[in-house]
Amino acid sequence: MTEDLITVAGVAVDTRHFIGGRRVASAGTFTDVSPIDGAPLGEISRGTPTEAAAAVTAAGAAFPGWAATPPAERARILRAVADGVDKRLEELAAVETADNGALLRSHRRGVMPRVAHNFRFFADRLLTLDHEDFTTRGHTNHVSWDPAGPCVLITPWNAPLMLATWKVAPALAAGNTVVLKPAEWSPLTASLLADIAAGAGLPPGVLNVVQGYGAEIGDTLTAHPDVRRISFTGSVPTARHIAASAAANLTPLSLELGGKSPLLVFADADLDLAADLAVEQYDNAGQVCLAATRLLVEASVAEEFTRRFTERAARLRQGDPRDESTDVGPVIHHRQLEKIDGFVQRALAAGARAVLGGRRGEGQYYPPTLLTDVRQDSEIVQEEVFGPVLTLQTFTGEDEAVHLANDTRFGLAATVATGDPERAERVTARLVAGTVWVNCFFVRDLDAPFGGSRQSGVGREGGTWSFDFYCDLKNTVTAPKGWQTHG
Ligand code: NAD
Repeated sequence: MTEDLITVAGVAVDTRHFIGGRRVASAGTFTDVSPIDGAPLGEISRGTPTEAAAAVTAAGAAFPGWAATPPAERARILRAVADGVDKRLEELAAVETADNGALLRSHRRGVMPRVAHNFRFFADRLLTLDHEDFTTRGHTNHVSWDPAGPCVLITPWNAPLMLATWKVAPALAAGNTVVLKPAEWSPLTASLLADIAAGAGLPPGVLNVVQGYGAEIGDTLTAHPDVRRISFTGSVPTARHIAASAAANLTPLSLELGGKSPLLVFADADLDLAADLAVEQYDNAGQVCLAATRLLVEASVAEEFTRRFTERAARLRQGDPRDESTDVGPVIHHRQLEKIDGFVQRALAAGARAVLGGRRGEGQYYPPTLLTDVRQDSEIVQEEVFGPVLTLQTFTGEDEAVHLANDTRFGLAATVATGDPERAERVTARLVAGTVWVNCFFVRDLDAPFGGSRQSGVGREGGTWSFDFYCDLKNTVTAPKGWQTHG
């Protein structure tokens, strides 16, 4: 018999799905384990196609009412959800850290405030959505953002609630209903979000949460004929599967996928800044889609850059993510640890040299690693590791830098460190990436378009782009008064 409520970091979390405003249990469960010490946190309902289909049905039933709710009222409820997140911020932070192992201080100070902001931002944006009417031979064109219908939102484990609400908030703001499927390695904060949303007055069925394995319930959600949008954040292979499944109904997709982003360090850069930016790539134990995992450094400063980088990286403290002084926590799961180590050992066997790290540590902790002597066409340079592993290559001149930077199948982000604004302009214009940072990293605004080029994604979300995706845009053309086309 499964416990419906478990206590994690002192917080009661419901282990069941949330469908049509009610808690629903599956017969089977899966074990949720903390990456901090490998301890089981609880048994979570393991969704089957029956619960997945029920969630879509509930979202479908709730859609007409929510879509007809005036935008100002939808915005009010979304702001109440944000207030609910604020009220439970400490709890959400503690549960998320226990569940996915990312730093508690980041969750408290950065991530959870951002979760609340996601709701406030899209509530505000909903009320300012506007496209001025225009005329065609005296006829008025009026553009409206109509709600699309039930949306399936599928999210990964590396920033569970942040990435989920970055989809949930605009989808709901747009007047859609939602089925959220969080990752099975970090299912807990989605369950808390369901409680918060219900407490804020979100009507039953508007937000549904289904727990479980993508391989077991994914197709039911993504091939469902009543689903009008699918937004997915995760890996490229899963995205391919989802795209094929969604093709049956031509359901529009937004895909936020992996990356192998470069950090280009030119000889004219502030090398201290460049070294700081490079060390930042170990944040969240490197489990960040946007991480610039390929350090590309102009040959003339490579030695000095490496010295400054390794000096800083050596100061990073790895350990319990609940400890204020920890910089790098554990990786999410022992399978992820094995995957990371596999990449590193194969790279070493192929001739790479470990300047830092290079072998697994205790428990689920992988030490920050830097590999040099890597070939551009090698696996370690071309494939996403999703762990605290960086490579360093050198270049001579802008052409080679840009060539190396663009020479993967990804195009999520790129960072450029240079002291020359004209060079920055020239180089950024040639980079293939959804986001480019110059002399900074991870500055993100909800107003900006976000997404990846090439195999890093399809489409852009953020600001008005989110509404473009989550709405059926409609142009209504009205004839001038007295106009007659016949008779
Ligand atoms: P994943 O693709 O294994 O899983 C992501 C989600 O998809 C999970 O909820 C999983 O249960 C679900 N899923 C798995 N199989 C499915 C199926 N057949 N049908 C439907 N859903 C299915 O990815 P992950 O390991 O959880 O996340 C890491 C990946 O996510 C990395 O590649 C990372 O770069 C990427 N990511 C991208 C962004 C971005 O914004 N571009 C942000 C964070 C993470």
